[in-house]
Amino acid sequence: MTHTRRGRGRPTVFDEPVRTQYLDLIRHGARLGDAATQLGINRSVPTRYSKTDREFAAALTEARELGAKARQEEVPHDEYRYNILKCRCPKCTKAAAQGRAERRATEDPPGGQAPADVHPIRLEGPGVGESLPSFLLARAS
Ligand SMILES: [Zn+2]
Repeated sequence: MTHTRRGRGRPTVFDEPVRTQYLDLIRHGARLGDAATQLGINRSVPTRYSKTDREFAAALTEARELGAKARQEEVPHDEYRYNILKCRCPKCTKAAAQGRAERRATEDPPGGQAPADVHPIRLEGPGVGESLPSFLLARAS
């Protein structure tokens, strides 16, 4: 099929040792772009290469699955994991509930972003709106 010969023709930036290192990085949880950067290759090179080499494409898919698992295992069980990684274990569920409660208790969140679920304080509740004007009217007349 493909015969690659080093030192001839165009430079082989993504030759066998580099591919092995690349897959190894991915397998250990590196992101595709980061792995490419670490090896000094353009991030599009492995993607392009995987289109020409089915074995590599399969190896890359496998490496990515392993890498995703490795990444998840490094992430502590907390709110981030609950929200982003959809972990629903008791620890993450509790952390997420706690985080939501804490945000609700914070009146002025950092960054100046208004929380989405703010309920404006109504100055004229049913009780106030009815009793106060009549009281004032009674006094005025
Ligand atoms: Zn969890």
